[in-house]
Amino acid sequence: MATTSKTKNNTLKLKFDTSWNYAPAPESKSIAAIKDKYDLFINGAFVKSSSKKHFKTINPANEEVLSEVADANATDVDKAVKAARTAYDKVWKKMSGKERGKYIYRIARMVQERAREFAVIETLDGGKPIRESRDFDVPTAANHFFYYAGWADKLEYAFPNRKAEPIGVAGQIIPWNFPLLMAAWKIAPALATGNTVVLKPAETTPLTALKLAEIIQEADLPPGVVNIITGAGATGAALVNHPGVDKIAFTGSTDVGKIIQRAIAGTNKKATLELGGKAANIIFEDAPLDQAVEGVINGIFFNQGHVCCAGSRLYVQESVYKTVLRKLKDRIETLIVGDPLDKNTDIGAINSKQQLETIHKYIKIGQQEGAEMHQSSCALPGKGFFCRPTLFTNVAQSSRIAQEEIFGPVLTIQTFRTEDEVIEKANNTPYGLSAGVWTDKGSKIFNMTTKMRAGVVWANTFNKFDPTSPFGGYKESGYGREGGLHGLSAYVNLI
Ligand code: ADP
Repeated sequence: MATTSKTKNNTLKLKFDTSWNYAPAPESKSIAAIKDKYDLFINGAFVKSSSKKHFKTINPANEEVLSEVADANATDVDKAVKAARTAYDKVWKKMSGKERGKYIYRIARMVQERAREFAVIETLDGGKPIRESRDFDVPTAANHFFYYAGWADKLEYAFPNRKAEPIGVAGQIIPWNFPLLMAAWKIAPALATGNTVVLKPAETTPLTALKLAEIIQEADLPPGVVNIITGAGATGAALVNHPGVDKIAFTGSTDVGKIIQRAIAGTNKKATLELGGKAANIIFEDAPLDQAVEGVINGIFFNQGHVCCAGSRLYVQESVYKTVLRKLKDRIETLIVGDPLDKNTDIGAINSKQQLETIHKYIKIGQQEGAEMHQSSCALPGKGFFCRPTLFTNVAQSSRIAQEEIFGPVLTIQTFRTEDEVIEKANNTPYGLSAGVWTDKGSKIFNMTTKMRAGVVWANTFNKFDPTSPFGGYKESGYGREGGLHGLSAYVNLI
């Protein structure tokens, strides 16, 4: 709890009473039905993988094994792609949009009905706070299915005077930061436009995609329309290289995005790639500072920084720098790091040991580069992968912590004097996924949004998503858009 007291020179000083804590409010795990073992979902049924291998998926908050999931090899990928092809040719592309829409609505409703179970499993498998999975991931995933279900019988209005034909079999590869939501982003528009799907979730977070497979089975979707296979990079590569795949939709690191781009060069495969980011969050002196500080916290810390569009670089106008820095330091001291299932938790577990090591590596690099580090003083749980919210000041524009994607709760803070200067600095990165602007002046917002090379620019808010708005990047953040009408057009050939 925070109290204030007067200091010698009569200014108010904020003090935190660390003896006062929230009582734990953990969400019950009992609703989450997780099997000990999962097979692959191919052609409408759960089938054994021909590799006969399984790998463990763990809870990053306590390192306990949650389940073992099948490791799909090239033979399994081939089976899944063939099932998707047959379903495409024989059933799905011939079905009317109205009928396709009914199936997608059904999936949307079932995700809603089982929202709590999805939220708990997402938090157990991925480490994100239950508040985030419950209030953002799962409802937004259901909304994507609802939104695209609505388009299925209206494609002639989405693309007036054109005939929108499906592309064929879509190979979809998704990362671990928004496992269910990314599955929804990929599957919903593909189905609405008449494509069939082979989806591979990330190896550290396969469980909600497998739950979705159960729903798809219960929803009676024709066999083969959606296939969900689990595995790591080799499984993803086998999917990308399979000649029966017509379109690749990938969300993940820029490095793997480049590998995929090389792999499909010279083929007829279409692709959308949503890759890394290094978003600039910009606070002008005329901004509502408390609101801006809360937006910055939300943009980088509430999600452990596990967001490609995380606001990981903060630019503050010089005249308000000291105030903003003080407010930020005070605020991170109040953030609760710990059990992701606890409804009070702000910052959950880092998704994997490997990712935690990467974050620690960057924190060290930041110090070696001469930046000044400030971390909250909170205690971390003894088990699991956790990281304190971390601020860096005195950061050089060319430093690695300001240029490279860290994907953790680490914020670099720099100052600026003029609009032109901050535009130059914000754009000075290989990425261009998102950005944020905090100001009282509409004209400044327009100036900034037109000059920032970022796919999304939020004004006086951050990390807001809606199924109707497109999302995607400039430069090394990838190409193609997901969401909205743009997201539909990524799955059709227009004739
Ligand atoms: P992140 O850094 O977010 O883990 P990755 O790009 O490593 O991102 O992983 C994103 C997804 O890409 C995961 O599902 C992963 O298994 C998959 N993947 C990794 N390597 C390859 C590859 N060479 N080809 C296709 N998919 C891959």
